[in-house]
Amino acid sequence: MSTLEIRDLHVSVETKEGPKPILRGVDLTIESGQTHAIMGPNGSGKSTLASALAGHPKYQVTSGTVTLDGEDVLAMTVDERARAGLFLAMQYPVEVPGVSVANFLRTAKTAIDGEAPKLRTWGREVKDAMSNLRIDSAFSERSVNEGFSGGEKKRHEILQMELFKPQIAILDETDSGLDVDALRVVSEGVNRAKENTDVGVLLITHYTRILRYIKPDFVHVFVDGRIAEEGGPELAERLEDEGYDKYVGTAAPAA
Ligand code: ADP
Ligand code: MG
Ligand code: MG
Repeated sequence: MSTLEIRDLHVSVETKEGPKPILRGVDLTIESGQTHAIMGPNGSGKSTLASALAGHPKYQVTSGTVTLDGEDVLAMTVDERARAGLFLAMQYPVEVPGVSVANFLRTAKTAIDGEAPKLRTWGREVKDAMSNLRIDSAFSERSVNEGFSGGEKKRHEILQMELFKPQIAILDETDSGLDVDALRVVSEGVNRAKENTDVGVLLITHYTRILRYIKPDFVHVFVDGRIAEEGGPELAERLEDEGYDKYVGTAAPAA
């Protein structure tokens, strides 16, 4: 049982003109077994939240707190966040030339668990997870992220989540196109992880379509760097019909 608590989080991003405030007081609590969806228009700061939680150096937390079971996440290095049980695809380098997927997965798993996975069962686990995600076995010999398509990146991300068994997973849906088949396979992977491990999931998305496959318990609407409205799954359905228009320009001015 784990709890990720985000309290009054303010984050600025490094730009050429200096730091630009993006998140303006985000409050969110995610527990094991729960699925939360963050939805919102482009540019509302959804990916900034994911990057800040991942410890991306360009994103500066200017105030607020983030804790995992009471431990200060913001004081942790990127590796420590992963070891503590937080999963974010962006924790890992974009491209790792010369490092195969298979080696990367085993090295990362060893770092996260603090011990190497048992060779025999690990090989089987990787194979099963790949086959569940309809990933071709040749994929494991490719260099990490080198020439990966959008769909391959996404499958690789879910493969990591299934193998690393985090307490809380933060998935920022690349808004760029997953076709319906890929979307279904990715969603099945998330649902399998939810069933098998009781992982808490924060699903960040611009579109409602993934929520047809992954049912959220809570929906949060993100506008101008903060949560403008919260509800249950019915809120996602309303957004599908109404879009985000009604929220534009409604956010309170920055303090
Ligand atoms: P979303 O994921 O909701 O589309 P983002 O978090 O990507 O929103 O972006 C929120 C705002 O922060 C946008 O105005 C965007 O231009 C700005 N922003 C995000 N990252 C950077 C960056 N690295 N450099 C400059 N501006 C950024
Ligand atoms: Mg965007
Ligand atoms: Mg985004």
